[in-house]
Amino acid sequence: MYRTHNCGELRENHIGSAVTLAGWVQTVRKFGSITFVDLRDRYGITQLVFSEQLNGLLDASPLGREFVIQVKGTVLERSNKNAKIPTGNIEISVAEFSIMNSAKTPPFTIEEDTDGGDELRMKYRYLDLRRPTLKRNMELRYKVNRSVRNYLDGQGFWDIETPFLIRSTPEGARDFVVPSRMNEGQFYALPQSPQTFKQLLMVSGYDRYYQIVKCFRDEDLRADRQPEFTQIDCEMCFVEQEDILNTFEGLFKHVFNDVKGIELTEAFPRMTFADAMWQYGNDKPDIRFEMKIQNAKATGQVFCKALEGSDFKVFNEAESVLMIAVPGCWEYTRKQLDELTEWVKRPQIGMSGVVNIKCNIDGTFKSSVDKFFNEEKLKDIADFCGAKAGTLILILAGAETRTRKAMSELRLEMGNRLGLRNPAIYRPLWVIDFPLFEYDEESNRWMARHHPFTSPKPEQIPLMDDMSRYGEINANAYDMVLNGTEIGGGSIRIFQRDLQEKMFAALGMSKEEAQDKFGFLMGAFEYGAPPHGGLALGFDRLCALLGGQESIRDFIAFPKNNAGRDVMLDAPSDIDAGQKKELGL
Ligand code: ASP
Repeated sequence: MYRTHNCGELRENHIGSAVTLAGWVQTVRKFGSITFVDLRDRYGITQLVFSEQLNGLLDASPLGREFVIQVKGTVLERSNKNAKIPTGNIEISVAEFSIMNSAKTPPFTIEEDTDGGDELRMKYRYLDLRRPTLKRNMELRYKVNRSVRNYLDGQGFWDIETPFLIRSTPEGARDFVVPSRMNEGQFYALPQSPQTFKQLLMVSGYDRYYQIVKCFRDEDLRADRQPEFTQIDCEMCFVEQEDILNTFEGLFKHVFNDVKGIELTEAFPRMTFADAMWQYGNDKPDIRFEMKIQNAKATGQVFCKALEGSDFKVFNEAESVLMIAVPGCWEYTRKQLDELTEWVKRPQIGMSGVVNIKCNIDGTFKSSVDKFFNEEKLKDIADFCGAKAGTLILILAGAETRTRKAMSELRLEMGNRLGLRNPAIYRPLWVIDFPLFEYDEESNRWMARHHPFTSPKPEQIPLMDDMSRYGEINANAYDMVLNGTEIGGGSIRIFQRDLQEKMFAALGMSKEEAQDKFGFLMGAFEYGAPPHGGLALGFDRLCALLGGQESIRDFIAFPKNNAGRDVMLDAPSDIDAGQKKELGL
């Protein structure tokens, strides 16, 4: 028997017991003739005491950090108790020990998080995973997984696996492909999601499917993406959007309560995509704070009368003039304002400047455009923004899309600066009524905003006959958003062959191409397909959010780096000539 107990288990009630422990040597401290060792495993740390009598043995085979050892001994009460660890009241007086395996000196310390950088941590991921932070993250991930499964099981969902070697299911990203040896010159694609399979399962009548499943997307790894990531993927039939939103709001609340002990009692607010763009400048609004965008002018239409009749060319010529009222910042100094100007000029933001109006505490106004707007006009603008005394109004002007995006960023930045984006506050919501299509300027064509299996709102189906009206069509598509991050999305699906054909045609696919690529799905729709819909939540992201961290990487046991490489395996890598030949490459 390797051990009678683990390293996190022993307490005062074990005092006097003979025990056997096994684990990793975290530290070795010699005090005169006595040696203390912290022995670690997944469960915790237990202090070992090697008395003078064992010195000879320790000298003959010294212990080093990360050695794997087994010890037999007796549990004693500690004279010097350590309240910081659960086993801190006891220690093991070692009678005999054996080294099961020695270890090289690890490239970074295990007991703390100071490290030699990401690449080193990734290369020695198995050591990184021994550290407390990653261990906590992995435990949390497991708990979220279990909690999701418990909830969905309780709601009658079945976990059904779907294949990884498939044919491309476009969801807006590039596919990873796998050459087929048995079918030389042909390729499988790895699924971007199980989208078409879960729809087929609905055709099979397997109402309420879920899977916690890997998805593969060959994207540039901007920000915090991984080429393979995990989704909680779900589908239901005979449901309306409302049923889906309620079911998954329930899931979110259940997991939150289970894992964080926080009870979210309020119903998630619902916001249309149009409102989100109008008020927050993006489709994943952070509603922990107000500071909504004030649309003084948008796509050429003036909503704030005070802008009319001025000689200020910048506003007159701009397609859009957007404002935010930042509370409490009326005393911003010249230096702070200059610094904000530099901030909006950064290439990621791309504006040429920011106009400001200070709503002084005494009721007067001071602005960078005093020349063009007198006190009365400035007051009108402040009223338009609902800005009270003590507020700083920030104004961006320019082309609609760019300005709105920039204002969305500026709002978040001011939220950060004012400490309004408190990570301990959770404000989930649903964004609904997404447009069905999105015009892609680069390829000059209409694309599916969600994916091509998303249904238009039934009353808007007739608009699909007129390409000039594609932009007006909305879908029963929805995203779950938490604190400015999209954590999932889905839609009610098309389930009739003719509508699906129409959709593919709208996306510029010929009848033949649609039949070739999606004949299996459209064929299935001819054999009794029920109305259905679903969604997928980003599992890695959800875990990171619940763990109070931004990056998903440390919630994945073996992630890839920014270049999509597994640094530990050194993958991707070349394959040998024989393998290539066999694959016909
Ligand atoms: N397959 C979709 C996605 O991966 C989710 C869904 O529509 O259910 O985003």
